[in-house]
Amino acid sequence: MNPTSFMLFIDLVKFDQSIMKSKQSLEVLKQKQLVYLQKLKQIVFSSEEVQVQLRHMKKNVDEKECYMKDLDEKEKALKDRSTNVSGDREYKSLKKESENLRAKQYAFEKELLQAWDQYETGKKQIEEKEKAFDEQEALLQIELNAVSDHISQEEKVLEQLERQRPEHEVNVPEDWLSKYSRMRSAVANPVVPVQSESCSACFGAVSQQELAAISNHEILPCRSCFRLLYDPTTYTHAVGGVL
Ligand SMILES: [Zn+2]
Repeated sequence: MNPTSFMLFIDLVKFDQSIMKSKQSLEVLKQKQLVYLQKLKQIVFSSEEVQVQLRHMKKNVDEKECYMKDLDEKEKALKDRSTNVSGDREYKSLKKESENLRAKQYAFEKELLQAWDQYETGKKQIEEKEKAFDEQEALLQIELNAVSDHISQEEKVLEQLERQRPEHEVNVPEDWLSKYSRMRSAVANPVVPVQSESCSACFGAVSQQELAAISNHEILPCRSCFRLLYDPTTYTHAVGGVL
């Protein structure tokens, strides 16, 4: 391969690495977005759950109030009956019934008060929980918005890189493009530099003959892992550096 083709090829590899980096960033951001969405969902679920608890406590109070009302009505009915008592026997029976009813009312009053107390305490606790949920939700929403903005920026970057890619293939020899394309579909780093006379990916040895070819701008496949090997010292791009 002539030095210019070699440079263009390595530039293409570098360019593809920037595409891969962008895809990885996007993946990380999307994972973050998913975590925020799950957390938000959990808050909604927890909030619904405490509301169910509160409704349950209120239902308990309502049922007890209803029963208390029944007892009050019974008491009223007894009073009405007591105005028309015809004999001593009936009076005694009425009196006993009335005493039983009062005892029931007295005992139940405590139960009712407990239910109200439980409801009021629960309501306060739930209001505090809801307040904390609202705060968490607001914070998560801010983070979610930030990560979503970041995702759309990164998507634009990736879109632009992918649009530019064909330009980077121009003047790269066709056979290298096809070799590279095959390796690219198999591994994440299809082109790697030779380091200490070995493949820098699998550490497979590179022969002296191969090293000589590589230093002459050749790109050879590693005999162990089949990645494409190049000599980083021969890559002298304007920006400098190696892969
Ligand atoms: Zn190798």
